[in-house]
Amino acid sequence: MRKVFDFHGGIHPPENKQQSLQTPIVKAGIPPLLVLPLSQHIGAPAVPAVAPGDRVLKGQLIGEARGFVSVPLHAPTSGTIEAVEERQIAHPSGHRAPCIVIRSDGLDEWIECRGIEDYTTLDKSDLLQRIRNAGIAGMGGAGFPSAVKLAVQPEKKISTLIINGTECEPYITADDALMRERAEQIVSGAMILRHLVEPEETLLGVEDNKPEAIATLLTAAQGTGLEVVSFPTKYPSGGEKQLIEILTGKQVPSGGLPADIGVVCQNMGSAAAIHDAVVLGRPLISRITTVTGDAIDQPQNFEVLLGTSMAYLLEKAGYRAERNNRLVMGGPMMGFTVPSPDVPVVKTTNCILAPSERELPTPPPAQACIRCGMCAEVCPASLLPQQMFWFAQGKEFDKLEQHNLFDCIECGACSYACPSNIPLVQYYRASKAEILQLRRDHEKSEHSRLRFEARQERLEREEREKAEKRAARKKAAEAKAKQGTANGEAEEDPIQAAIERAKAKKAAQQSAADAQGGSEGEREKLEKAVVSTRKRLDTAIAKLEQAQAEGSDLVEALQTGVDKTRLKLETAETALAALQNSSDSTTAESTSSTDAAQLAIEKAMAARAAEADLSPAEKARADLEKLEQRLEKSRAKLAQSRDAGDEEKIIEALEATVERLAGKVEQARQQLQQAESA
Ligand code: SF4
Ligand code: SF4
Repeated sequence: MRKVFDFHGGIHPPENKQQSLQTPIVKAGIPPLLVLPLSQHIGAPAVPAVAPGDRVLKGQLIGEARGFVSVPLHAPTSGTIEAVEERQIAHPSGHRAPCIVIRSDGLDEWIECRGIEDYTTLDKSDLLQRIRNAGIAGMGGAGFPSAVKLAVQPEKKISTLIINGTECEPYITADDALMRERAEQIVSGAMILRHLVEPEETLLGVEDNKPEAIATLLTAAQGTGLEVVSFPTKYPSGGEKQLIEILTGKQVPSGGLPADIGVVCQNMGSAAAIHDAVVLGRPLISRITTVTGDAIDQPQNFEVLLGTSMAYLLEKAGYRAERNNRLVMGGPMMGFTVPSPDVPVVKTTNCILAPSERELPTPPPAQACIRCGMCAEVCPASLLPQQMFWFAQGKEFDKLEQHNLFDCIECGACSYACPSNIPLVQYYRASKAEILQLRRDHEKSEHSRLRFEARQERLEREEREKAEKRAARKKAAEAKAKQGTANGEAEEDPIQAAIERAKAKKAAQQSAADAQGGSEGEREKLEKAVVSTRKRLDTAIAKLEQAQAEGSDLVEALQTGVDKTRLKLETAETALAALQNSSDSTTAESTSSTDAAQLAIEKAMAARAAEADLSPAEKARADLEKLEQRLEKSRAKLAQSRDAGDEEKIIEALEATVERLAGKVEQARQQLQQAESA
């Protein structure tokens, strides 16, 4: 017999488990409509992989995991996607969340499933991927993705793997029924887990109030090396930290994880689902759910397709609404009242409780705390519930955190024990929610600040780059002006031609300056457009980020809006930059024109002196070469001006120059032919 330990506190509420254990597990059947929330687990919601009108087969992927801490979603039966929209889900606040709605066709037609005969031949990362792809999340509590829990960092050596079959909460018997009827499936799953984690020991922990389950597990585990351990019944032994302490005597440190002390824990239901995923190749599409309470004629356990409405299940179990005071999802200690029986069963729904008023009376009004200390005595996390209650009332969140509020497993033992009927656990739940919201808000504002700073930095960098480009263009324009004047037209008097060009340039600058005056209004308009479009883009990005964080189905539409606004901003910025460039180059040309003209005159005089010594054919060839060079440059300038979207009159002037030079090149070619044949 293995030695077991005890944890601090705990209570012994009436079990009320026998009512639902009178019959074997019953298949609930296929409801006409299945509503599948995209978030049935802790972490990022899945992303729809189907659209309304699509036909889907049983087991087909309908929602893809988004990010590392997330799981995919699969169709529980064949049918047609009726909608992807927000529906009311099982949550104490009654809030709505994005769901995929399937209208079943009654055929229950499977996709092709490929299981693995010998999983030990698989690479461990592939095996883990199979578990992840099957959409398995913890089925006994909060729904933490199983693959994430199993991806233990290599430096954390795991000594103990625990399969949790405790199910300590009153009324719930889903795991008990599963262990009684599907022990081999569980043992197979546990062996896959053992192969993955490689612990020194694998323990199947079950409370001693489940003798039949213990017996079947012992039979199924014979010769496997798995150890079935039973221990005295006490609530909440099923809490992960409490079970670890019972089986190993070790305590998980405050704020720490079981892996920190070499332990990994998985639920019995998750182990069975892992068997299905690996051996049969089937994803998680159903679960065992207890339907019980005084308002139920035939309390029992159902194998339910995920997405089935509570109302459908209640009807199957003989629900008597007139006897029921409220509907609870989960058990009486940790469950919550649902706003409507239309909410769907999800991966974590272990129980639907329909109690009568006598069975689960409305709590009497809370009285003043009498400082009896009962709450601290029963707290399994060794917290100080009474002090935490004061801090929660005063919203002293810092002090609540100092008192390890987040170690509270919300078991409700303190509320159960309190003689003043103070709903202590409700205060802790509300405080946790508020603290988490404050953290999210803080993260959001920090994110916005970083985004703002990054944007400022980008704008400054762009401004610097623009200034550098302007300077480079100015330099190039000056060099070009000098070279252009040096290549004066050969058949004219070069000095006169250079003087003429200088005059023409001055006139052009004057007209450009006039035009610039006219384009001031245009520039002002463009600047305003850039500023307002940037603002709109920032607002659109903020809305998109919020929608992404909330997993809203408006994400796609908002993304399109962001893309369009970004395109508009780029267009406005490009137009503004072009206007500034043309204005800059005008200024650059103006300041260098006098020097350039003088230089051109000198170069032309030197060229004329050099030409005096050439033969007619050599002179004709030189003239042709110069004209060809000028033609090429003019064409390049024309193309550049067109690309920059320069004014029409500038482009027209450049076109005329190109045409004129092309004519001259043709003439020069003929002259060269004549000179060579002479
Ligand atoms: S059990 Fe209730 S009355 Fe007693 S100390 Fe705790 S909060 Fe106060
Ligand atoms: S609800 Fe929290 S504070 Fe109350 S007994 Fe449970 S763990 Fe302790």
